[in-house]
Amino acid sequence: MPCLFCHIVEGRIPASKVYEDADLLAFNDINPQAPMHVLIVPKAHIATANDLTVEHDILVGAMTRRAAAIARERGYHASGYRTVLNCNAQAGQTVFHLHLHVLGGRDMAWPPG
Ligand code: AMP
Ligand code: ZN
Repeated sequence: MPCLFCHIVEGRIPASKVYEDADLLAFNDINPQAPMHVLIVPKAHIATANDLTVEHDILVGAMTRRAAAIARERGYHASGYRTVLNCNAQAGQTVFHLHLHVLGGRDMAWPPG
């Protein structure tokens, strides 16, 4: 089945890239929910958080630290920002390629809707 974020990683669908290295790609969300709304994805296809294994621990750590680095670049490091990883339908996951939302630049409610 074609995967939207695999297509973005492969450059077959354009995206507003924020960061790229050998393992990760970050790009602006097409439907931003905050002044900063970046998605960080592994280049390798991993469908959901349920599919992570111990072999992915360094990758997930790199995703989390990249979120902090992007927030720092955007000036939200000290004021605060939110990372979100939706897993499966009831949590609102719509694209089944692991992605970390990085949101900032406005007050955030808790609990999330
Ligand atoms: P989720 O609901 O957690 O699966 O998040 C999927 C996210 O992907 C949503 O915030 C969408 O706005 C975003 N999205 C969908 N298509 C694109 C695209 N072509 N480029 C960038 N972001 C996208
Ligand atoms: Zn994929």
